[in-house]
Amino acid sequence: MRYLSDYHLHSNYSFDSKQTFEDIITKAISMKLNEICLTEHISFDPDDRSYNFFNFKDYENEIKRLSDKYSGKISIKKGLEIGEYLLYKEDFDKYFKKHNLDFIIGSIHNLNGKSLRNNIAENGVTYTYETYFKEIFKFAQMGDFDVLGHLDIVQRYAFKSGGVYDFEDYKDYIYEILKVTISRGKGLEVNTSGLSKNLLFPKLEILNMYKDLNGEILTVGSDAHTSNRVGEKISYVYDILKDIGFKYVFTFDNRKRNGQLL
Ligand SMILES: [Zn+2]
Ligand SMILES: [Zn+2]
Repeated sequence: MRYLSDYHLHSNYSFDSKQTFEDIITKAISMKLNEICLTEHISFDPDDRSYNFFNFKDYENEIKRLSDKYSGKISIKKGLEIGEYLLYKEDFDKYFKKHNLDFIIGSIHNLNGKSLRNNIAENGVTYTYETYFKEIFKFAQMGDFDVLGHLDIVQRYAFKSGGVYDFEDYKDYIYEILKVTISRGKGLEVNTSGLSKNLLFPKLEILNMYKDLNGEILTVGSDAHTSNRVGEKISYVYDILKDIGFKYVFTFDNRKRNGQLL
């Protein structure tokens, strides 16, 4: 039996979700998941809607309570999804030292203080992809994270303007990002939230390149903000990863990784 884990989930501890931990856990158990990791948004930017929203102490206590309640049925991990680390590096570094976390997804949701969607509207698709990949590269070089979140998420916002990118156009940027990620012992998240539109974040070409470069650290996450999506397409993506030749999907405990056979 495969060990199924959903490693990207938002609850009402994130500004943009209303689902409770209990909604998530009940759904995860019904989806036969063995483990989940909650990955709430956090930000140190006073203009960001996540600012001062997330309360670690309550989060930790609630996870502990529910871990006891559902013990033997599912394992629940404490994670965060961070954004724009480079702008608030000191705050993040201090925060990670002070709080006991299992796992950190490093993402980029904004460029130049604006959403990716607004960047596309104002500066065009090519500019946005290029700036985004450059920014991810800087982050991958020096950020504190375990996996890069939904690498190439620009696809989600470019989709409507017909701007789903051609891998060949950005292959050199992506190569550098993957090289540095691997050399730092960090990994990639495979995010299933675009699959209803046939988009996988990251694209298969990126996953193939990652494999060719001997990358092996991967997590899979639904990025569910509503409980109907918890665990969505997780085992489907495991099949894809296995076909590419990967052996493991990883879970994390106190920021240490464990390979679970695919
Ligand atoms: Zn995200
Ligand atoms: Zn997310």
